[in-house]
Amino acid sequence: MERIEIYDTTLRDGEQSPGCSLNDEEKMRIAKQLEQLGVDVIEAGFPASSPDDFKAVRDIANEIKDSTVTGLARCMKNDIDACWEALKGTENPRVHVFIATSPIHMACKLKKKPEEVLEMAVQSVKYAKRFFPQVEFSAEDASRSDMAFLIKVVEAAIKAGATVINLPDTVGYATPKEYGDMFRYIRDHVSDSDRVCFSCHCHNDLGMATANTLASVEAGVRQIECTVNGVGERAGNVALEEAGVALHVRKDVFHAATRLNLKEIKRTSDMVSQLMHSPIQANKAIVGANAFAHEAGIHQDGVLKNPRTYEIMSPSMIGLDQTRLVLGKHSGRHALVEKASELGIHIPDDAVNTYFQAFKKMADSQKTISDDDLISFFRKEKMSI
Ligand SMILES: [Zn+2]
Repeated sequence: MERIEIYDTTLRDGEQSPGCSLNDEEKMRIAKQLEQLGVDVIEAGFPASSPDDFKAVRDIANEIKDSTVTGLARCMKNDIDACWEALKGTENPRVHVFIATSPIHMACKLKKKPEEVLEMAVQSVKYAKRFFPQVEFSAEDASRSDMAFLIKVVEAAIKAGATVINLPDTVGYATPKEYGDMFRYIRDHVSDSDRVCFSCHCHNDLGMATANTLASVEAGVRQIECTVNGVGERAGNVALEEAGVALHVRKDVFHAATRLNLKEIKRTSDMVSQLMHSPIQANKAIVGANAFAHEAGIHQDGVLKNPRTYEIMSPSMIGLDQTRLVLGKHSGRHALVEKASELGIHIPDDAVNTYFQAFKKMADSQKTISDDDLISFFRKEKMSI
């Protein structure tokens, strides 16, 4: 099994999403929960961006012991100095420096020539290395960069002392094949590429963030950057729970393991959703309210006989109590009897048909049927409860 590091950026990239900002106390609560979840690295903020971010990174770094805490820095001395001030007290200080390498970002955003960008990358990694034993270098918008130039930058960053090379799909543009091929190509063409850990960072603009992340793992990536519930800029980052659980459920394919304590996933997801005021769509993979809910009669009957018929993983694996049987017009007799028994109501075998007919009538007239609805239904049908 290959060991995959989970790098959580909920508190940095995630917090950049509109309406998701957090106060210090909320950031600390999330950081502690991420530590419980077993993430390897917590990117706690961008210390040079504001005094609040600086304080959050410093306080979290002083508090968290089981995960490495890091901060973001542009390729500028001031940014790296701010990271060092915030992180110098930690056991294994780590900084994340980045600069864009795609033609459009260099020309329109940075207004710099490729040679200048290369020079800034090298000088910054060298400068960071004077303080930090661990230096992650990110080539922003790597997936839209010229490959020959990217090779030059990555090679120079490694030579300057980078220990992790992150190649983000900053705008969620790459397809899984392209993204995986980019890592293969870079790893094959950069000298000393085996001395560093390669990292992915995927955005979900075309809904491909999870597929791209997993494709990069197949191409040798050993660090996944992600956020809880996939929060983040625009359509968000790859969701930690999706990448982490996919690696676990399909270890037969990926042959990779993380240090995640999967039972903490649901708790972490609920906390982030609540503190960021960011509701989770009901059909969201892994953590959506319907991810383990079954309404169709055939599905309910199957799941009651053996959950593996329609569930590729158990809800308890992510810390959820149980599968949810949602009664509605598609439900069958088996589910009605089971749900009634959950509510403490026994339906005698010879009465099942009668109750089922009456239940179907009710189900036709309303979308979903809550436990309270069912209890009143049985009362009305003179069932003893
Ligand atoms: Zn990002």
